[in-house]
Amino acid sequence: MNIKLKFYNTLTRKKEEFIPKTKNPTMYSCGPTVYSYAHIGNLRAYIFMDSIRRVLKFNGYKIKGVMNITDVGHLTDDGDDGEDKMAKKAAEEKKTPWQIADEVTKIFMRDIGLLNIDTPEVVAKATNHIDDMLKFVVGLTQKGHAYETSDGIYFDVSTFNDYGKLSGQKGKLAEQISGARVNINSEKKNPQDFALWKKAPKNHIMQWPSPWGQGFPGWHIECSAIAKKFLGAAFDIHTGGVDHIPIHHENEIAQSEALDGCNAGANFWMHNEFMQVNGGKMSKSLGNTYTLTDLADKGISPLAFRYFCLNTHYRKALNFTFDGVNGAATAYKRLLNLLAEHKDTNKACDLTKYKEEFITAINDDINIPLAIGVLWTMVKESPLSKDVFDLAVEFDKVLGLDLEKAEKEKIADIEIPENIKNLLSKRTEARKNKDFKASDILRNELAKLGWAVKDTANGQEITKI
Ligand code: AMP
Ligand code: ZN
Repeated sequence: MNIKLKFYNTLTRKKEEFIPKTKNPTMYSCGPTVYSYAHIGNLRAYIFMDSIRRVLKFNGYKIKGVMNITDVGHLTDDGDDGEDKMAKKAAEEKKTPWQIADEVTKIFMRDIGLLNIDTPEVVAKATNHIDDMLKFVVGLTQKGHAYETSDGIYFDVSTFNDYGKLSGQKGKLAEQISGARVNINSEKKNPQDFALWKKAPKNHIMQWPSPWGQGFPGWHIECSAIAKKFLGAAFDIHTGGVDHIPIHHENEIAQSEALDGCNAGANFWMHNEFMQVNGGKMSKSLGNTYTLTDLADKGISPLAFRYFCLNTHYRKALNFTFDGVNGAATAYKRLLNLLAEHKDTNKACDLTKYKEEFITAINDDINIPLAIGVLWTMVKESPLSKDVFDLAVEFDKVLGLDLEKAEKEKIADIEIPENIKNLLSKRTEARKNKDFKASDILRNELAKLGWAVKDTANGQEITKI
């Protein structure tokens, strides 16, 4: 069975066969900005990164992944001006930016662990790589792609012909690139020129020595510099959310290709669509930027949230609602219950077609929702068999839902409502009297109310459907 692995490439706007540049594919993922806790939308981006990693591994690849931790900057107005977000938060909380970054990074690493996100091989803090960034910036100035102003070093986009190719705005230099705000900075040669390095005002907390005096890196340079350091000038995949396409990633491409030639940077650019809340934007002012801890407080486990995310393809917007995530939690529990039943039964089963369908789905641009559909069909349509359980556990290398831990819920572990208890005791009575017709009617009645009953040597066992 040889099912080609295809990914959608934002750069070419089509699905392309994935052929890595070297034996072990290389992937860079834009990591979190650690001045505030990651919200569930951010976490969607890392579940997406994780799915790519798992699909590559399922296909037999050994992957080298790198993710940065933005523990310096960036600036409040998303351009090159405004306050440093890290410094602002530190001042608000009367802590140093390093303390804030440390605390938030720890919680982020805990959260991605709880979500079964396969951690990239390298997790690199920006502040540990200032030298690599400076080397990059010096290289760009030497090649004539950057110029100095009174407040920093800027990339001159007019020196890079392909500027705008990722967002499909190539050649529209004179106009505003969609999404970018024009900075009223009279020293800039073009509105889209962006800061590679900023000169630090005296009271700026995070600053480092540079050929241009004390300063700090611009927003985009850390990703290009860290990717190059660990993966080489050219690598296979770059991930991030769609918000990064028009500015951050466009600028990364400009920096990398200007310095190291047209093959530099990523071969495949892959982006996850956004998560919304109740059909709208997530925002602090609406109080709907939930964290994983907020969900846990409402009884939603990290893996139930993961199951919820996996059921929407990464290139589709995902609308978060509590009804939706609760529905996903119920479905996930039901899946575990059904798998537990398969686990306990020894019966050989030919499942080849499910395996092929599963691989076809995941290799077609990581279609995890379709793959989960295949899993459900297998679990529901096959006779009870441990083979089903074993194949589900194999699929779980991609899904990461702890399916191997599926255990039947014990009667004692679940709360059984009074009406269900009554029906159960009526059924016990019917079976004692060998009234199997009445027993079957009661079983159907229980099923309609959402409870599955099974007769075992120890009597009736009940599970929530
Ligand atoms: P940030 O910490 O803001 O740099 O974001 C970390 C990652 O989350 C980036 O890849 C963003 O593109 C992504 N991201 C931010 N907001 C959302 C959202 N609402 N839905 C999905 N991804 C998001
Ligand atoms: Zn980045």
